[in-house]
Amino acid sequence: MKYCSECGAPVVLQRQRSAHAWRYVCETCRIVFYQAPRLAAACIAEWEHRILLCRRAVEPEFGCWELPAGFVASGESAAAAARRETLEEAGVGVSIDRPYALLHIPSVNQFRVVYLACLLDTTFRTGAETSDARLFAEHEIPWEKVEFATTRDTLRHYLAERREGKLGFFFAEIVPAWLDP
Ligand SMILES: [Zn+2]
Repeated sequence: MKYCSECGAPVVLQRQRSAHAWRYVCETCRIVFYQAPRLAAACIAEWEHRILLCRRAVEPEFGCWELPAGFVASGESAAAAARRETLEEAGVGVSIDRPYALLHIPSVNQFRVVYLACLLDTTFRTGAETSDARLFAEHEIPWEKVEFATTRDTLRHYLAERREGKLGFFFAEIVPAWLDP
């Protein structure tokens, strides 16, 4: 954010009295802009026990493998966003089963809901933000190229629970290593 939406003056980032709360403030009209966390939706889309991963063709983490995911648009349901992102990134439809994980990533002001889903077909077509889309069995997942902690932690948790045959619900707060005390 650069300019005040009320008066057009430049805004400054100020630390508010409560800890951790940095907010944009207009020094001309004194408005404080409260920015709520954004919601992203992703899915673990499976076909015969293999999981769909998409290879990113955009920064950040260009070239890394990621669950199909993206931000929920205004007025869109999170499940619809997960379906839409899978269609945009891999060119395939999914049937959404249920929410499986909720991740909070305070460092980027984001929540991410991850659904379980079934692929409706496997004729993948990559979109503008994806260079490849493939199915991976558990032992084939290229962990060294799965950079996002949200994807890594969710997948590890999911695979461990799937092996035991009992799927629960996974919640995690993702704190980057550089913020760990
Ligand atoms: Zn202003």
